[in-house]
Amino acid sequence: MKVLVPVKRVIDYNVKVRVRPDGTGVDLANVKMSMNPFDEIAIEEALRLREAGKAEEVIAVSVGVQQCQTILRIAMAMGADRSILIQAADDPHDDIEPLAVAKLLKAVADDEQPGLVLMGKQAIDNDMNATGQMLAALMSRPQATFASAIEVDGERATVTREVDGGLQVVRIELPAIVTVDLRMNEPRYPSLPNIQRAKRKRMDVKTPGDYGVDASPRLDILKTVEPEARQAGVIVGSVDELISKLKDEAEVI
Ligand code: AMP
Repeated sequence: MKVLVPVKRVIDYNVKVRVRPDGTGVDLANVKMSMNPFDEIAIEEALRLREAGKAEEVIAVSVGVQQCQTILRIAMAMGADRSILIQAADDPHDDIEPLAVAKLLKAVADDEQPGLVLMGKQAIDNDMNATGQMLAALMSRPQATFASAIEVDGERATVTREVDGGLQVVRIELPAIVTVDLRMNEPRYPSLPNIQRAKRKRMDVKTPGDYGVDASPRLDILKTVEPEARQAGVIVGSVDELISKLKDEAEVI
């Protein structure tokens, strides 16, 4: 079985995001970019499936600007066998929307016939939480979202999902799409020899046109603003004062 893992290049989660002064989006100039953390978890889980003999090949795929090849090299340094870059934009500020990404991933899946598409539950830049669900719909395949564990057994997978108030265990028929949550595993760091080895692994470079997909945006983003600054707090002198403030000023009790 092949496992296809879509990986997105996003602003590194440690970076304090700045909004562009004209409100047209987030400033990406000189900002550290990394693999979406949930996608690292998906790569790690795909590698574990291969190491357990449940998968033969792990293929990473990224849609975006040419610089996405850096995160594909990281995916291959972690252990992915090969990768596909779909170059769909020249300007890093052009985010490819979930529907276009899902259509492209479907085209890749039609070519590659993976038994499993393992992907992040959401990209931390736009927080859409939509691509996996859209892909499952386009492929007419079962999906399990927010997975914290997955076991593959022949033609089926048992997936533990994180839901409000606990864990839900579902069984799905493969091929399927599984989106992963934070607690699934701890991704490995690529070793130096593996970083070197990854440079020689295969990376196919494609365009949306190669798959007959129109990746142009359908959403109009009207504006992007910084979150409101937090108001300064007050130090109260006693529990009684706290209770009276909560009652009379905040009116929450
Ligand atoms: P989203 O629906 O944008 O929150 O993203 C959910 C997941 O879809 C991500 O964790 C990735 O696995 C995948 N994904 C989204 N956008 C891309 C992209 N441009 N390239 C590759 N994978 C993507």
